[in-house]
Amino acid sequence: MSVAEPVVLAESLKKHLKPGKLFINGREEDAQSGKTIDVMNPATGELLTAVPDGDAPDVDRAVAAARRSFEKKSWRGMDPSRKEKILWDLSEILLKNKEELSVLESMENGKTVREAGNADVNPAIDAFRYYAGWVRKIYGETIPVDGPFLNYTVREPVGVVGAVVPWNYPLQLAVWKVAPALACGCSVVLKPSEMTPLTALKLAEYCMQAGVPEGVVNVVTGYGHSAGEALGRHMDVDKISFTGSIRTARALLKASAESNLKRLSLELGGKSPNIIFPDCDFEAALKAAFWGIFANKGEICSAASRLLLHADIHDKFLDELVSRAKRLKVGDPLDKGTLMGSQISATQLNRILSYIESGKQEGAKLLCGGERDTDGAKAKGFFVKPTIFSEVKPQMKIAQEEIFGPVLAALRFRDAEEAVEIANGTIYGLVSAVWTHDIQRAHRVASEIKAGVVWINTYNGFDTAAPFGGYKQSGYGRDLGAHALDQYTSVKSVWVAL
Ligand code: NAD
Repeated sequence: MSVAEPVVLAESLKKHLKPGKLFINGREEDAQSGKTIDVMNPATGELLTAVPDGDAPDVDRAVAAARRSFEKKSWRGMDPSRKEKILWDLSEILLKNKEELSVLESMENGKTVREAGNADVNPAIDAFRYYAGWVRKIYGETIPVDGPFLNYTVREPVGVVGAVVPWNYPLQLAVWKVAPALACGCSVVLKPSEMTPLTALKLAEYCMQAGVPEGVVNVVTGYGHSAGEALGRHMDVDKISFTGSIRTARALLKASAESNLKRLSLELGGKSPNIIFPDCDFEAALKAAFWGIFANKGEICSAASRLLLHADIHDKFLDELVSRAKRLKVGDPLDKGTLMGSQISATQLNRILSYIESGKQEGAKLLCGGERDTDGAKAKGFFVKPTIFSEVKPQMKIAQEEIFGPVLAALRFRDAEEAVEIANGTIYGLVSAVWTHDIQRAHRVASEIKAGVVWINTYNGFDTAAPFGGYKQSGYGRDLGAHALDQYTSVKSVWVAL
């Protein structure tokens, strides 16, 4: 494939992009209010298209459609082998449309087309394959109980699921929820981020193509404070599966408490420690530290945003890291040679820049970057130069708060005990990593760290089969793997007198 292809594909996509529609009960609809939201390309400032500004009445229609399909058992009552085939076919449709989806994701998010293909579309394809395999394997138990009774359990679909997802991995995170929900027999109302709704709408279209009955997968585009809030407060939504910020998680918990006590699972942010001991594989640790913070322009919940360096390796490691960061190719996301794209929005850009300012003010040492990148065509987008701070102290804002941008905070430690204390010293507990060839130390540190994922001598290892989720204020419940099935099923215990 030639290097120019994504650019060519993008031009043709832009010409043919129609205004988006809500997807309710298998049909495209406008918002009742008639209002729309512009969808921009953050790398160029171009208007891509518009989507409906969905609100409570639209959420009502989508939830009603999901409820009808659930009660009619059009999906959950279908033969498991047929459901399995449909989920598998969905993975094939995604695969067939991979190039187009990657370009679309890149255009609405600002990430490089390479990242969109590898980290959005590929995991989405794999998730449908993986959960297709679960459809015929979700079953209960028979339990030995006292007395003349037979007791058995059934795992039933939880009902109507509201899936609320953010903008950083729009397609991947939507599928992480839709695929297991469908495998369990649920009906879904998906609310993508107002900034990145386009691949979610494609997903709904593909669900119909693959044979998912109408009303089972619905998409309501709109803002969080309106469409999202309405979903969170809806009396007929049984469960919300959420990925996003702590602030929104609190709003959803409150909405659940004030409505029908719907179940929640929460995948929130992180401030993840990447701990490097001197006896690591230097080159592997360096690469992981680099991509841990600069992949997806740092807009990753699992970003390795705190680099904890042992004093003996500190200077050498940072010298090399900084020299590579200065050479990182930032630019047009559709150019296959580009390694880092544009931040999602002006708001996000300003947030990042204000964190950089606070780092300087609190006395951290800026080693590279530290400003917006306005070189050439980049002036039209929201690009930030790869930024590294050293001499960061654990209590500084840039060591405590999630920046969600290409800004690395490097901290120094002297022994494992101090590393663990620093690592655990934030409100978050999503992921973590430790680099050492001493297996005792590796496992000791892994057991002491309060995080849902610990990587030893690797970083950002993901697999659809392995659970993902946080400790502490990084959330609860697990996406992926067999654990995600717990999110979308309820256990019924049946007693039979013998
Ligand atoms: P956000 O919480 O602002 O938005 C996420 C979604 O929630 C969007 O669809 C938004 O419209 C909606 N929303 C906003 N307010 C709402 C409300 N009151 N009620 C219901 N829905 C509402 O988060 P964001 O800025 O889009 O995403 C960034 C955050 O997501 C970061 O904190 C990041 O760490 C987190 N994240 C976590 C994971 C993970 O798996 N743990 C993955 C990616 C992103």
